[in-house]
Amino acid sequence: MSAQIGVTGLAVMGANLARNLARNGYTVALHNRSIEKTDALLEEHGDEGDFVRTETLQELVDSLEKPRRILIMVKAGAPVDSVIEQLTPLLDPGDIVIDGGNSHFEHTRRREATLAGQDLHFVGVGVSGGEEGALLGPSIMPGGSRESYDWVGPMLEKISAKYHGEPCCRWIGTDGAGHFVKMVHNGIEYADMQVIGEAFDLLRSGAGIEPQDQARIFSDWNAGTLSSYLIEITAEVLGHTDDRTGKPFVDVVVDSAGQKGTGRWTVVSALELGSPTSGIAESVFARALSSQQDQRVLAQESLAGHEATVELPENFVEDVRLALYASKLVSYAQGIDMLTAAAAEYGWELKLDEIASLWRAGCIIRAELLDDIMKAYAGKDRPANLLLAPAFTEAIAGAVPAWRRVVSIAVQLGIPVPVFSASLAYYDGLRRERLPAALTQGLRDLFGAHTYNRVDTEGTFHTMWGADR
Ligand code: NAP
Repeated sequence: MSAQIGVTGLAVMGANLARNLARNGYTVALHNRSIEKTDALLEEHGDEGDFVRTETLQELVDSLEKPRRILIMVKAGAPVDSVIEQLTPLLDPGDIVIDGGNSHFEHTRRREATLAGQDLHFVGVGVSGGEEGALLGPSIMPGGSRESYDWVGPMLEKISAKYHGEPCCRWIGTDGAGHFVKMVHNGIEYADMQVIGEAFDLLRSGAGIEPQDQARIFSDWNAGTLSSYLIEITAEVLGHTDDRTGKPFVDVVVDSAGQKGTGRWTVVSALELGSPTSGIAESVFARALSSQQDQRVLAQESLAGHEATVELPENFVEDVRLALYASKLVSYAQGIDMLTAAAAEYGWELKLDEIASLWRAGCIIRAELLDDIMKAYAGKDRPANLLLAPAFTEAIAGAVPAWRRVVSIAVQLGIPVPVFSASLAYYDGLRRERLPAALTQGLRDLFGAHTYNRVDTEGTFHTMWGADR
């Protein structure tokens, strides 16, 4: 029996994607560098569908129908190159190599170009949803040639999450487009989690609301415009009591947030593209600050706060909800702006409505909001910025007074709200008729003769500054 697809790399993600494919009726050839993982998968789940056990890459290749489809799910980075190097001499023109790991989009661009030179297709696929999503239906963001999508698209769509029956998988664009979109998804995820953390901190340190009570608040919020997977699981985490101590779970966890790098990649890429992704950047920096435990311990003892006494408004909880909502909208606006900039830079025709549509289920940032974002970009009149889509202009306007109150209260109480405040600064910067950048231009012209443009005349100007001094 020929297998329809092969999977190499059977750690948690590869194993679950292989099972998902088999459960959906595909015959799946299994391979892992060390045979133990292959055998463990067959022993525990071999009855879930048709699997073909292979021990070597040659056996894997020989087991597949042509053109071959091989999904690489090994550790991102050098292992992917190593597997590609071993695999490609065994393949025939037209075969399709798929990388479903969290690869950097620049690596995917390089690999795609190399394999295209060998008449092979290379499909870089962003997969979101963690291990559960991989098994039950992730959000899938494939990039690569349009032709290769004809071969792998139907399979990927079949195993993807469904939003009201619609697959959360669409062809994103050529070469690294899929991995780029997945990277931005992760950047938004960082910001989403940070704004939730800021709301939690304000409600606890500002209003004295304990985690168990906050769990109910987040649960209520999940029934409204904030409805999303991350808000839902926030209620679960905040409501959880530590078995060992009986304390709230959040009080026994070291407050140093880890990161695997995709948030940092997003910010580096945003800087290179000149895209003002300040909310996402602040969320990455917030994790970095949380990890500087030594400095934080010293600073607690040495740095003065001079916090003010503030009487909280009666509806402070609702104010925080609105500030969270507005800041979250800004993160999405910034992420989408970055996609637009990348499309121009890399020659991708990214369809923003389709990208929003496939984030509606399966992935970590899935949220009700994404359906509205999809609609905002579906028509001909695409907004220049998400916040300029009429529905969002109105929604954020309704949140602005509360947002300002919350940020100013946080500042007075000494509660750090880097993403709430950076998002508000972005919002104000975006809507400002004149920015102090005119002065920056003047300074640049004085010290470096960098020239400037005038508001009243076309052309480039330089002032002879020495004459004034
Ligand atoms: P992982 O821990 O990232 O990688 C382990 C797998 O890679 C094992 O199968 C291992 O084989 C193989 N491997 C490592 N070095 C290799 C090499 N030089 N040659 C051949 N195989 C090698 O596995 P994972 O957590 O399942 O993640 C797989 C990919 O999905 C990664 O890119 C990850 O970032 C991405 N991803 C993960 C998640 C998640 O929630 N975990 C979510 C989305 C995306 P051995 O068994 O022989 O050591």
